[in-house]
Amino acid sequence: MRSPQYDILFEPVRIGPLKAKNRFYQVPHCNGMGHRAPSGMAGMRRVKAEGGWAVVCTEVCEIHPSADISPHSEARLWDDRDIPALARAADAIHEFGALAGVELGHHGFRAQNRTSREVPMGPSSHTVVSYDPVQSRAMDKEDIRNIRRWHVAAARRAKRAGFDLIYVYAAHGLVTPMQFLSRRYNQRTDEYGGPLENRVRLLRELIVDTKDAVGATCAVPVRICIDELVGPNGLCAEDEGRDVIEMLADLPDLWDVTVGDWSNDSRPSRFGGEGVHEQYVAHVKAVTGKPVVGVGRFTSPDAMVSQVRRGVLDMIGAARPSIADPFLPKKVEEGRIDDIRECIGCNICAASDNTYTPIRCTQNPTMGEEWRRNWHPERVPPRESKDRILVIGAGPAGLECAMTLGKRGYEVGLAEAATELGGRVAREAKLPGLSAWGRVRDYRVGQLHQLPNVSIFLDSKMSAQDILEAEFDRVVLAVGSSWRRDGVARYHRVPPQTLDDTRIFTPDDIMAGAQIEGPVAIYDDDHYYMGGAMAEMLRQRGLEVTLVTPAPLVSNWAVNTLEQPKIQSRLLELGVSIRANEALVAFGEQHAELACVFTGRRQTIPAASVLMVTSRLSRTDLQHDLLSSAALWQDARIKSVTSIGDCLAPGTIAQAVFGGHRYAREFEVPPSESVPFQREIAALGDWPS
Ligand code: ADP
Ligand code: SF4
Repeated sequence: MRSPQYDILFEPVRIGPLKAKNRFYQVPHCNGMGHRAPSGMAGMRRVKAEGGWAVVCTEVCEIHPSADISPHSEARLWDDRDIPALARAADAIHEFGALAGVELGHHGFRAQNRTSREVPMGPSSHTVVSYDPVQSRAMDKEDIRNIRRWHVAAARRAKRAGFDLIYVYAAHGLVTPMQFLSRRYNQRTDEYGGPLENRVRLLRELIVDTKDAVGATCAVPVRICIDELVGPNGLCAEDEGRDVIEMLADLPDLWDVTVGDWSNDSRPSRFGGEGVHEQYVAHVKAVTGKPVVGVGRFTSPDAMVSQVRRGVLDMIGAARPSIADPFLPKKVEEGRIDDIRECIGCNICAASDNTYTPIRCTQNPTMGEEWRRNWHPERVPPRESKDRILVIGAGPAGLECAMTLGKRGYEVGLAEAATELGGRVAREAKLPGLSAWGRVRDYRVGQLHQLPNVSIFLDSKMSAQDILEAEFDRVVLAVGSSWRRDGVARYHRVPPQTLDDTRIFTPDDIMAGAQIEGPVAIYDDDHYYMGGAMAEMLRQRGLEVTLVTPAPLVSNWAVNTLEQPKIQSRLLELGVSIRANEALVAFGEQHAELACVFTGRRQTIPAASVLMVTSRLSRTDLQHDLLSSAALWQDARIKSVTSIGDCLAPGTIAQAVFGGHRYAREFEVPPSESVPFQREIAALGDWPS
């Protein structure tokens, strides 16, 4: 049972006409499924409700085609035909006694309206937030009346769909009421512009309208950005941010307080720890009698208790911690703190939304697969046979595979060549800012130690002969990959012949402790975190570092994980010199030669060493050795040899965990369909007869 110190987290909280059963509040979060995969979205929310969250919200829900943010797939309540899809989510959330929330939003000039082709509109005429060559028009009074009308209509539909909490959304700079609030977006001269009393008018009207429409039985929370983190041009927590809350104090039924844009609200762990928003939100409770919810990647129940006891928050808001572990509240309630799968703050979940794909999570391989593959985060099917399985390699793929097979009840051996578990995660967690990523290893090692049917063998580099003698029925190879030294990735598809490789290093060398001489040219044709992390580390060691990349930005793919601007700004501040849109084409004689990716024009930079962050090679030797002795398998009782994770194909840590999980979950129970997951096929519209 739970420790009494956590009792406070299980106190009910009144929200308007409703009562939340505890203080765990899954705030709205996008998931790449939305209106295009409503059953997937509902299945994911259902699992959160089962996991004990008192409130489970949807992602933002578009209220009208005049603010369509496609190709992002968010929820929609454009008309009555959208009700059944959302009702599925509300029903699923109610199944486990949670309250269902929906975040109604009109995106103003943030919406490019790529599908609806409506002209975007905002408080003033602005370029849209993306690089689309599109501007909004300034709303007139009729438009404002329409927005109020559409919001009320959507609120009524939300109520019919079964939602309990119906939001007015004014955060992240993304939505119309927020755009009206912020000085930098609102240059109106009528009663909706100018002083804050005017700029707050639309938000006030929307709250009053929504309460009038549904407030008798539904709660009306407001999600607000209290500090835009842009100084006096926008809302500041100690200035207008506070004033807005004071002006509206007890009008909403709950304040859901956010800070900055999405990249600050979902701050990557490289750039902020647990509870990072406290300094901005701490004063909100002093100016309202209504419950206050806030986020801060809370995974520790002690930190949560501290927030409540010190009067910072009434309810613990969570998006990412609820993604990494939908059962977090249940685990606290049952006193199973060590079983919590803590979010690592990598924002692979956000990258799913940003790449318009169903959500995935590094820590939780079942995320987004609850409905499509019928995967549950806490339950796995029991074993089908007494086959004994040898997993070789204890990186994220091998750890997840061994753990999940062990939970299914199989007898498992896990052999690892190194003297510690974790593979790439153990190494990469030592890079600057990535220590939280070690949780991928820590959670799995903690679980493995609870499984008596899994035996772990450290310092055990396995050869094909060792495996043949080991007496296991199944062999799973999870032996990982190594960084290439020859420059091959996207720009060079074959190795350039112009590299003096005696002074070329790879991230593996650096993480193994190799000493590298400066000046260093880091050639990043990988584009995720490794190039930036290496640059940061070598610069901190005092080396002169130039980061060369064929991409326009450093760590270009990290745009999707909301990390990119922060990575580039950190490197610039550290004095790393950046050469974008250039490829390293030759190296020797204390200099590296770069070619412009557009013109081919060449320039040289001083370089005593090159660090290649390009691509990786799967470790396939063991597989080849085993295949060449396939004739001996039967005598050795081996029925199968399967590669998973990076040794199958190098990818993200999330992909390695997923691969390990998939093998283990589907072992002896493969999915029956030729398409290995359920799909939602769009309903055909009427066809002219
Ligand atoms: P993944 O991301 O696929 O899990 P990693 O590179 O993180 O891959 O982990 C692979 C692990 O496999 C490393 O810890 C490595 O030491 C281990 N390994 C590689 N070859 C062998 C081997 N022959 N026997 C045992 N362990 C091995
Ligand atoms: Fe946390 Fe990463 Fe999972 Fe997102 S993907 S919930 S940041 S562990």
